[in-house]
Amino acid sequence: MRRTLIAGNWKMNGSLAANTTLLEGICAGVSSSCDLAVCVPAPYLAQVQAALSSSAVRWGAQDLSEHESGAYTGEVSAQMLNDFGCAYVIVGHSERRSYHGESDDLVARKSARALAAGLVPIVCVGETLQERETGRTNAVVVSQLEPVIKAAGARLSDIVVAYEPVWAIGTGKTATPDMAQQVHELIRATLAKGSAGAAEKVQILYGGSMKPDNARELLAMKDIDGGLIGGASLKAADFLAIAAAA
Ligand code: PEP
Repeated sequence: MRRTLIAGNWKMNGSLAANTTLLEGICAGVSSSCDLAVCVPAPYLAQVQAALSSSAVRWGAQDLSEHESGAYTGEVSAQMLNDFGCAYVIVGHSERRSYHGESDDLVARKSARALAAGLVPIVCVGETLQERETGRTNAVVVSQLEPVIKAAGARLSDIVVAYEPVWAIGTGKTATPDMAQQVHELIRATLAKGSAGAAEKVQILYGGSMKPDNARELLAMKDIDGGLIGGASLKAADFLAIAAAA
């Protein structure tokens, strides 16, 4: 039985003061019905580690370097994330793919780097509106996932996948539960080609304007094992309401 994971993606938001309020709100309302995590900007990892260490909420980062260490100005290594107690790291978010030109192969290498360091990569896949409208959703998602499956090898069961249709991120447009389920089923079938056992274990999250009022019906679908939450993770009440819907 897969546990539900609700993970927040704060993106480039927050301040020391605002984070304190948000983290206190989350900790005050947390229950153990599902796994909870927040993925925060790297400069706030020490603050989040201090605030969440004695809670059930785990934390992570939003990106990592494909390299182990060295002359890579501005990059953050997997080992650095370990130093701050990260459990998770988001890899291949569509904003990194589109604004930073991250390729499917780079995303696969970053996923392998995270796994090698004991971090769980939350690997994001998803189609643009144009790709959906031209009937390419399945081909795009499979081509994003296949290099990750290959790179993960025997560690495939240790990844988390987030299906995030690009047209639904931050737009208020959500995939219907049936639309999302269809792609989640495809993702699980694709994972099963790497390892049937792993495919049953991997949590597949939905992301894209998930809110308290649409979370329940999305999370009720057979292959939707949780959510990657952007905007709604910045308000403790909304984030907790989504977790409660799980
Ligand atoms: C995201 O950025 O991963 C995301 C799902 O954002 P939002 O919930 O705001 O659509």
